[in-house]
Amino acid sequence: SDHQLDYPASPDEMDWSKLYPHFYDQETGKMAKQVTIADIGCGFGGLMVDLSPEFPDELILGMEIRVQVTNYVEDRIIALRSNHAKEEGYQNINVLRGNAMKFLPNFFHKGQLSKMFFCFPDPHFKQRKHKARIITNTLLSEYAYVLKEGGVVYTITDVEDLHHWMVKHLEEHPLFERLSESWENEDKCVSIMRNATEEGKKVERKRGDKFVACFRRVQTPEII
Ligand code: SAM
Repeated sequence: SDHQLDYPASPDEMDWSKLYPHFYDQETGKMAKQVTIADIGCGFGGLMVDLSPEFPDELILGMEIRVQVTNYVEDRIIALRSNHAKEEGYQNINVLRGNAMKFLPNFFHKGQLSKMFFCFPDPHFKQRKHKARIITNTLLSEYAYVLKEGGVVYTITDVEDLHHWMVKHLEEHPLFERLSESWENEDKCVSIMRNATEEGKKVERKRGDKFVACFRRVQTPEII
């Protein structure tokens, strides 16, 4: 449960140098980059592995609540880094164990993120479990807070009912606006997201459907 998890009191207290040592500037004692891409409930990390070479100048963070799975992703990244040491590959990805439904603003400043991924989130099929879903009105306000204006929320699921749920909540939220199908078709992250994650591969093998929806974080209206 959460009391076993460590959270920084504020984003400035988070020590990112351990996760991304290549981006730590010894001289200034500061990080050269901040995390801008988050994979929420990253599972075994396949999305980050494929995003890494596409965004070499951005730091990508997976958040995962299961201990064993987080440990697996950590080991996977250590191995990738050592196998690609020559070209300094995979230095821009890492994983953090945590409950992404809580304390996100403890990790990220307002407007810090440019992309958030929600790939094959747990469906919580039963009606009374719906409040446990990772896309809810309250949580969307938190996601809108950590996302910059113009940032994008990516969702994909094989569960049609969950897809409609996520679309409905995002559409109802004043700070998100749905991106068109033609935008989706041209965005490289959408094609990576369709195929890179372990869950996505499982759905592919079963020839299941994949439902995609992407939303832009719009400008916060000025209060006059
Ligand atoms: N995104 C991965 C993929 O597509 O292969 C994993 C999908 S899996 C069905 C959902 C993942 O979300 C699980 O690994 C689960 O442990 C994680 N998860 C569920 N609730 C979470 C939370 N509140 N914070 C962080 N991770 C969570």
